[in-house]
Amino acid sequence: MNHALPASPQAPVASRGVERLVAGRATSDGAGVKLTRVLTQDLQRRLDPFLMLDAFRNENPDDYIGGFPDHPHRGFETVTYMLAGRMRHHDSAGNAGLLGPGGAQWMTAGSGLIHSELPEQEEGLMEGFQLWLNLPARNKMIAPFYRDIPGEAIPEFATLAGVRVRVIAGESQGTAGAVQRPDTEPLFLDVHLPAGTRFAQRIPVGHNAFLYTYRGEVTIAGKAVADRFMAILANDGADGVVIEAAQDARVILIAGAPLNEPIAQYGPFVMNTAEQIQQTLRDYQAGLFESAVVRPA
Ligand code: MN
Repeated sequence: MNHALPASPQAPVASRGVERLVAGRATSDGAGVKLTRVLTQDLQRRLDPFLMLDAFRNENPDDYIGGFPDHPHRGFETVTYMLAGRMRHHDSAGNAGLLGPGGAQWMTAGSGLIHSELPEQEEGLMEGFQLWLNLPARNKMIAPFYRDIPGEAIPEFATLAGVRVRVIAGESQGTAGAVQRPDTEPLFLDVHLPAGTRFAQRIPVGHNAFLYTYRGEVTIAGKAVADRFMAILANDGADGVVIEAAQDARVILIAGAPLNEPIAQYGPFVMNTAEQIQQTLRDYQAGLFESAVVRPA
């Protein structure tokens, strides 16, 4: 009788194809912070539940020093992931924190708050991402909440081939991420692939998914994704994605369950209807955000 083969660590994954490559749009936000808006408003429906992805990588302090002074949010979550540099956070609920290299901040704006995000450095590289994740209609007015996750608290693992995976949210090859969220079930991975390696990740068939290359180039289902491009992964029935790197490469991989609800965005407010946006503007003008204990009307 043959000895049984050891169980493979993961059954093979069929890769989704690349539906579209997106270069993003250079812009500035806050007090003159230069960034690339990778996920723009026209892609919100396609990439539901994700509303925005900004990538920033600035060596020149003039391009980041102004930061993001006091501004409001309502109706969604912001996820900031830092690769280099430090940002200080304050909000109207009395929370404060310092976000450093390799760390993340998960903020649920919910019913509303006012916060600032300011660089805690006057020189050197500032690099990272901010992702906006929608909340289901029934949770848009929940109490604001935020959590700072220092770099050392983000679970990570390496595959036998040497691919290093940091699991900010969701689950990868048995490693649970720092954050789990209901409803949208977000996956947020930072994947470092040495030259000549591949990495396979399962993604539920119905979820929307994309990745962004921030160092080097990768190949997915035979299609090259150049440095600093977003690849929207096709919803083609495949059970995951296989990322291949001929040279050293780093990508963030993001996926989530669509909410399939109407999206009404006005700047930093994301609700479901125009009337809710009007109410939000009235609440903001009435100073209700300053206490960060706004209740549903
Ligand atoms: Mn903000």
